[in-house]
Amino acid sequence: MKPFSYDAPADAATAVRTVAADPSAVFLAGGTNLLDHLKLGITRPARLVDVTNLTSTEITEHDGGLSIGAGVPNSDLAADPRVRSRYPALAESLLAGASGPLRNMATTGGNPLQRTRCVYFQDVTTPCNKRTPGSGCSAIGGYTRYHAILGASEHCVATHPSDLAVALAALDASVRVLGPHGERTIPFTELHRLPGDTPQRDTVLEHGELITAIDLPAPPAGRQRYRKVRDRASYAFALVSVAALLDVANETVRDARIAFGGVAHKPWRAWQAEDVLRGAPATDATFRAAAGAELAQARPLPGNEFKVPLLTRTLVSVLRELS
Ligand SMILES: Cc1cc2nc3c(=O)[nH]c(=O)nc-3n(C[C@H](O)[C@H](O)[C@H](O)COP(=O)(O)OP(=O)(O)OC[C@H]3O[C@@H](n4cnc5c(N)ncnc54)[C@H](O)[C@@H]3O)c2cc1C
Ligand code: SF4
Repeated sequence: MKPFSYDAPADAATAVRTVAADPSAVFLAGGTNLLDHLKLGITRPARLVDVTNLTSTEITEHDGGLSIGAGVPNSDLAADPRVRSRYPALAESLLAGASGPLRNMATTGGNPLQRTRCVYFQDVTTPCNKRTPGSGCSAIGGYTRYHAILGASEHCVATHPSDLAVALAALDASVRVLGPHGERTIPFTELHRLPGDTPQRDTVLEHGELITAIDLPAPPAGRQRYRKVRDRASYAFALVSVAALLDVANETVRDARIAFGGVAHKPWRAWQAEDVLRGAPATDATFRAAAGAELAQARPLPGNEFKVPLLTRTLVSVLRELS
């Protein structure tokens, strides 16, 4: 491992200034992703700037919704009674991820910024455009079971791994960020990027921008669910996942919000499926049509064609359960 310095600044503004001024500096939160990357040689920062004591560990009420400090551990967020009762899909997404000890360390700010689990990204002996821009993509023509079927490019077909991020995308969350030029707020669905020809950039954050909190609007009417389908019952990343919120009255869908995980470079908000659902009868035929509308744009790879029928069946099953 390359030697690095460790900073524990007194406040968030100093942490932001320190990272923004040094291209080789990175923020350190729970470290459950970053430290693995240091050990594997995927990233070689010269300076770690610890933000664990600088971002809030509080969950507070605002305008009928919740504001979650970026330092809130994933386990605390999943256990919060307000989250469990008002945003059950969020609690389910957290409990579907990692393990108890990891969730105790992982933070609300760090979880959505964890990097892809593409095996070639994690193997520094192989070409990877995300790790080394311009080196090529080993996954194309390689092992693609876990890779994208939506929104990929010829430069990268990786998927985003966070379960929490999928629920936040469906819940219309927003991200509060502190940067060297002040604060800004980003809709959660716009935080992550599609790969295009710059897959090395996972998000729209600039170097030195610190996530300080994630805001949830008041919980929408109806019922919600997060379901993750994986190769084994625990401790595995999603093959596909669905976060869904469904409001049904008189057997007709009044509102629907849906996001998919495990299928794209970002949490995939299924806007086209939602359009099909709103105002339609809450039947299996409608649910299948919604899946079909969204997945018409799917471009599976040799090795992950199964994700199209798997995601269709998962979505239909979740919507049936919620209706
Ligand atoms: C064995 C294993 C299994 C796992 N399984 C799952 C799973 O099934 N589902 C799942 O979702 N996750 C899973 N994870 C990933 C785990 O949830 C993440 O590693 C964790 O949530 C990252 O949070 P952290 O606070 O530890 O971030 P860190 O590792 O400290 O940081 C991650 C990245 O975010 C940046 N960062 C951290 N905080 C901020 C901030 N506030 N503002 C700006 N940048 C920041 C860091 O610089 C770094 O680039 C697994 C991890 C392991 C090791
Ligand atoms: S899919 Fe993306 S992360 Fe994986 S090898 Fe290709 S460029 Fe790298």
